Amino acid sequence: MAPASTDDDPDMTPGPAGRLAPPGAALKTDIVVIGGGQAGLSAAYHLKQAGLVPRKKFVILDAAAAPGGAWQFRWPSLTLSTVNRIHDLPGLPFSDMASGETHVQARVAVPRYFAAYEQAFGLRVLRPVKVILVSRRGDRFRVETDRGEFSARGLINATGTWDAPYIPEYPGAERFQGQHLHTRDYRTPQAFAGQHVVIVGAGISALQLLGEISKVTTTTWVTRQPPVFREGPFDDQAARAAVALVEDRVRAGLSPQSVVSVTGLPVTPAVEEMRARGVLSRHPMFTEITEDGVRWANGSEVHADVILWCTGFRSSLDHLAPLMLRRPDAEDGIVMTGRLATQVASEPRIHLVGYGPSTSTIGANRAGRAAASELLTSLAAARPHMTCGGRGKRGRSETTSKQRNRNDRRVSALPFTHTAKATSKETHHGNRH
Ligand SMILES: Cc1cc2nc3c(=O)[nH]c(=O)nc-3n(C[C@H](O)[C@H](O)[C@H](O)COP(=O)(O)OP(=O)(O)OC[C@H]3O[C@@H](n4cnc5c(N)ncnc54)[C@H](O)[C@@H]3O)c2cc1C
Repeated sequence: MAPASTDDDPDMTPGPAGRLAPPGAALKTDIVVIGGGQAGLSAAYHLKQAGLVPRKKFVILDAAAAPGGAWQFRWPSLTLSTVNRIHDLPGLPFSDMASGETHVQARVAVPRYFAAYEQAFGLRVLRPVKVILVSRRGDRFRVETDRGEFSARGLINATGTWDAPYIPEYPGAERFQGQHLHTRDYRTPQAFAGQHVVIVGAGISALQLLGEISKVTTTTWVTRQPPVFREGPFDDQAARAAVALVEDRVRAGLSPQSVVSVTGLPVTPAVEEMRARGVLSRHPMFTEITEDGVRWANGSEVHADVILWCTGFRSSLDHLAPLMLRRPDAEDGIVMTGRLATQVASEPRIHLVGYGPSTSTIGANRAGRAAASELLTSLAAARPHMTCGGRGKRGRSETTSKQRNRNDRRVSALPFTHTAKATSKETHHGNRH
C-alpha cells in the first residue's frame, strides 16, 4: 500500500507498511468520520465550522485511494447530463467547477470537485484507510482499520452503498453457465456485443443501461413490479414526500428503501427514444435461472449470455456489526432518531449519514449538518467541561480520559494519544449488517 503523502502533513507520518498507528496502539480523537463521499465531506465541513481541528479533534477515514466517493467508480457514459443531479456541498458550489460541462463524465467531474473541496476547507482526509470493524471499548469506540486503530468518543458513518451491491436470490443461479453481473460491474455497452443480455430492475440505472446495451445487442427487460414512469415534473413537494416516506421507515426501524426508488422514473428524452425503438417492453420476473438462461412459471424460457442485475445496493455497514445496532427481530433494521433521522436511537454517539432518507447528494448534505451538530451536542453533554467546538479544557479532558484507561500514553509525533490494545478480544456477535 502506498504511504499517505506527508508533504503537507508533517504530523501524520505513516510508519512501516504505511501504518498510522503502531501495532498494539490506537490513535485517539473525539470523532471518526468513516467515508469521504458527499455525506462524509458535508459532516466534516460542519465539524470544522464548529471549531474542531481535522486530524486532531476529528479524523476522516476513506477506503478509496483518491477523492470522489463512489462517483469515481461510476461507468464512463454517466455524464453530468445523465445523472439525476449533483447537489452542491456546503460552502463551494459545484457549478464553480463544472459550469456548462454537461458532457463531462461524472466520474471525472465529481472527484475533481471533491478534491478541490477537501483542499479548500483543509479537511485532510486520511486515505486509503479502510475501516474493518468498530466495537465498544468503555465509553469510547475502537475503530480497527487496515492501517492501525483509532479510538473515538463518537462516530459519523458515511460509507454509502457502492460496496454493498444487492442481487436477489433465485433458484438455479449457481448453475447458470453465462455471466452474472451487477450495475457496479458495468463499463461500456460494447462489452456485450453479440450476447443476449437479460436486464433485471426497474430503477434509473436499469433504464440507462438498457438504453445503451439495446443499441449494440439484443436484450430482455425483466422487472418485479411494473415500472412507474413519472410524467409530470418532480417538484420540491414531491421530493419532500419521497424523503419523508423513507424517513418514516427508518424511524420505525425498517430497512430503508432508496429515495430514488420511491420517486418514479423520469420520462427523459432518452426514455422517449427507447419507447420509440420499442425496447421498453417489460417482462415480469422469471421464477428460475437455468444453465442457459431464465425460465418463467408458465414454462417459457429465454436464452441469456449475461444476466445484468440492476437491483440496487444496500447500506455498507458490515464494519459496525459488533455494535449490534439492528433490531433483534425479523425486521432487522436500525431504529433511527434525531432531527433528520441520522442518529442511532440505541446508540446516540453514532450517526449514519447517506443512509435511508439521506441517500442522495442533497440528503447527504443536510444529514451531514444535522449529524455534526447533534453529535457535538451529545458529546458535550457527556463531558460538560468541553465546548462543542472542542476548545474546552484540553488537559482536563485528557486527565479524565486517562483515569478511565490507565494504559493511555502520549506519543509526541502524532496529534493523538495512543491507547494500549485490549488484552481480551471483544466478542463479535455475528455479522448482521
Ligand atoms: C449509479 C448511481 C447513480 C446515482 N446518481 C445520483 C444522482 O445523480 N444524484 C444524487 O443525488 N444521487 C445519486 N446517487 C445516489 C448517490 O449514491 C448519493 O447521492 C451520494 O453520492 C452518496 O454519497 P455518500 O457519501 O453517501 O456515499 P459514497 O459516495 O459511496 O461515499 C462513501 C465513501 O465511503 C468510503 N467507504 C466505504 N466503506 C468504507 C470503510 N469500511 N472504511 C472507510 N471508508 C469506507 C468509500 O470509499 C467512499 O469514498 C446515485 C447512486 C448510484 C448507485
